Amino acid sequence: MTLNNMAKIPILFKAAACTYSTLILLKRQMASDLRKPTPDTGWRGSPAVPSSQGGDAEVDFIHKPPYDWMPSNKDLFVPRFICSCWCGNVQFEFHGEALDAKCCHCRDCQRLHGAPFQWAVIFPKTSVRMTKNENHSVQWFSTDIGSSCHYVPCKVSCGSCKSPLFDEGRNTVLAYPSAFQFPSAIHNGERMNSHNVPDDLRPTCHIFYGQRIMDISDGIPKWEGHKNSSTSLS
Ligand SMILES: [Zn+2]
Ligand SMILES: [Zn+2]
Repeated sequence: MTLNNMAKIPILFKAAACTYSTLILLKRQMASDLRKPTPDTGWRGSPAVPSSQGGDAEVDFIHKPPYDWMPSNKDLFVPRFICSCWCGNVQFEFHGEALDAKCCHCRDCQRLHGAPFQWAVIFPKTSVRMTKNENHSVQWFSTDIGSSCHYVPCKVSCGSCKSPLFDEGRNTVLAYPSAFQFPSAIHNGERMNSHNVPDDLRPTCHIFYGQRIMDISDGIPKWEGHKNSSTSLS
């Protein structure tokens, strides 16, 4: 999406552009990531992917992936990463490998994250479980309807410390590794550094690089907008 096109979009939909863009990205990503099958993590409830139709129609969503659910067999869900907000009230665990990892430089990511760009990794929704929600701190925000509610796609954060944790899409979770605790980092008493970021979490490209506020010289592909469907800038 170009800036000129964005300028023609009403304010409400401007706010939703990032999530909308993310959804298009996720659809394309899921198509290209079918090479990576969704692992069986023990979810036997209904539907197979909660909130896959979007919106707020999923009944009792809080007890379905990616929230408070139990695998049918504990051996199937092997926690690989813990994602925690700054104050620790909210925690999630992640199973298996990320489908992809990207940095998004769009204006919405800049504003919503208070950062020059967003680093995000994609996991199947059933590979994510909420393990802690102290004082019911988890909260949601929908940029589509401009409301603090669980309306998929939505952003998920801690209501106490306000840390962003991930975006819930229809089929996947777009998580922020900056909130991950890596096992090697915990073992060494450090939170994270460039030497212990697992390969599958390392960004494979930069998207919406046309909206960047800083140049990144890391040798990976840069796309003006979406990956593989916009002008290559590198
Ligand atoms: Zn918190
Ligand atoms: Zn973005």
